[in-house]
Amino acid sequence: MIACLGRIVHGSDDDVSTLFNSLNLQGTVENGDFSGIASKDFGGLNSVKPLYLIKPSGAEDVARVVKAAARTPHLTVAARGNGHSINGQAMSDGGYVLDMRSTAENHFKLVTVNGSPCIDVSGGALWEEVLTRCVSRYGLAPRSWTDYLRLTVGGTLSNAGVSGQAFRYGPQTSNVTELEVVTGKGDIAVCSETQNPELFFGALGGLGQFGIITRARVKLQQAPDMVRWIRVVYSEFEEFTRDAEFLVSQKEGESFDYVEGFVFCNNDDPVNGWPSVQLNPDQEFDPSHLPQISGSVLYCLEVAYHYRNSDNPSTVNTAVSRLLGRLRFVERLKSTVDVSYVEFLLRVKRAEEQAKANGVWDIPHPWLNLFVSKSDIVDFDRTVFKKMVKDGIGGPILIYPLLRSKWDSRTSVALPEGEIFYIVGLLRFVPKGPSVDKKVAENREIVNWCIKEGWDFKLYLPHYRSKEDWKRHFGNQWTRFAQRKAGFDPKAILAPGQRIFKRGTTSTTRQ
Ligand code: FAD
Repeated sequence: MIACLGRIVHGSDDDVSTLFNSLNLQGTVENGDFSGIASKDFGGLNSVKPLYLIKPSGAEDVARVVKAAARTPHLTVAARGNGHSINGQAMSDGGYVLDMRSTAENHFKLVTVNGSPCIDVSGGALWEEVLTRCVSRYGLAPRSWTDYLRLTVGGTLSNAGVSGQAFRYGPQTSNVTELEVVTGKGDIAVCSETQNPELFFGALGGLGQFGIITRARVKLQQAPDMVRWIRVVYSEFEEFTRDAEFLVSQKEGESFDYVEGFVFCNNDDPVNGWPSVQLNPDQEFDPSHLPQISGSVLYCLEVAYHYRNSDNPSTVNTAVSRLLGRLRFVERLKSTVDVSYVEFLLRVKRAEEQAKANGVWDIPHPWLNLFVSKSDIVDFDRTVFKKMVKDGIGGPILIYPLLRSKWDSRTSVALPEGEIFYIVGLLRFVPKGPSVDKKVAENREIVNWCIKEGWDFKLYLPHYRSKEDWKRHFGNQWTRFAQRKAGFDPKAILAPGQRIFKRGTTSTTRQ
């Protein structure tokens, strides 16, 4: 019965029930169409029509679908997390899309590994669901986050998962001890550092190329009650980077618990200017405090300090003042607010709600994310921040340092060479129309500039189309990446939207 799948080309209702019955699925199947979730993503730049949208009930369903695709000469399978990719990475043109959100409720079990708490969660669960359940049930929380939590566990682990805690704990890929994965051969495998390590490290940061993550075991820590959230302003890039690098290089207990930063414009633009700094709407940014020599671009360091309700307020104040006292931000340009830990982690959800109310959440997002080595970040600032995007981008421009030693080189993530590198995020919100193409071209210009200058950089959430570009991206890891593909997904069935390997062969890449 399964073999007949390849002959279903156009999905009618009959085909849907044939597929459903032939696979003996516990989940559901829908025809793919251009208006469904599987043909879109957050980027809003691409649209394709999948053959079927399948809502699996768990790993067995996922394995059945992958095996069915393997019996055809051409079908591919894309796991879709929450579709927050920018460039169609979770899409499958004419193939099967697995909506992993249908598996969100699976698992969720507290376990102890070497005396430390971990939580087993579904690859289709949102980090927001993991947060709210872990904190309310156990008073525990994962250690490493993304800024925005309406992303799935499987989706971020396939990339890295980075936020202001990563300088201390590493990315989310450094904070899981075990995965359950359905490989491109349709095998269900449990893997860890010691059991199937090649699959474990391959899948982490593996862009969905080696398997579909159906369960992850995530490390937990005691959740704090409260967070003191602080932003301070710099007019000089060198002072901003000096302080940011100082904070991320300190030992635990001698720094903040979260360190991020962003670039903003020295004007009153509500999105890109002074108002973007204030955490407390009652406070106004007073530009008269800025040094006279300030340019058109400014920098904001964003930090957070965790504490418990039972802590003595003066102890918290002293610890925060001591840390701030070591920094050289512009005096009096500081914004502070105390919020609950959960509220802090859900901060981008509030921004999402506002953007939805203003009708800007669903417009195109030609985003560009890069990792740029410390050795090239001053040049990057001079060329990109101070020239190319100096008037703002209609959304945040993130920049903060990370430490390579907190990343496991056995995973599939490609990183710059230096120990300190910066994540740079140009998170553009662009109204539909010709300016979208212009912004995509501007992104390409930035990447080409980095290549031309020979800077030590990598794309984060990479998006390339040619084999040459992918090989350059992975550098000396390309052979390992290609070997892992040949071992775990030899027919190149999985994650076709990444456009790395072409169905049917692992030796060619889409051109
Ligand atoms: P999708 O976009 O659905 O999928 C991404 C890729 O992973 C696809 O190739 C897909 O096939 C594959 N995939 C999905 N699920 C699985 C699975 N279970 N197993 C194997 N492969 C799978 N990233 C950060 O690191 N830090 C941030 O702070 C951050 N903030 C963001 C904020 C917003 C508003 C947005 C839109 C994105 C942000 N991202 C951030 C990027 C985000 O991590 C990636 O876009 C991620 O891929 C999105 O997750 P998703 O669950 O929507 O995955």
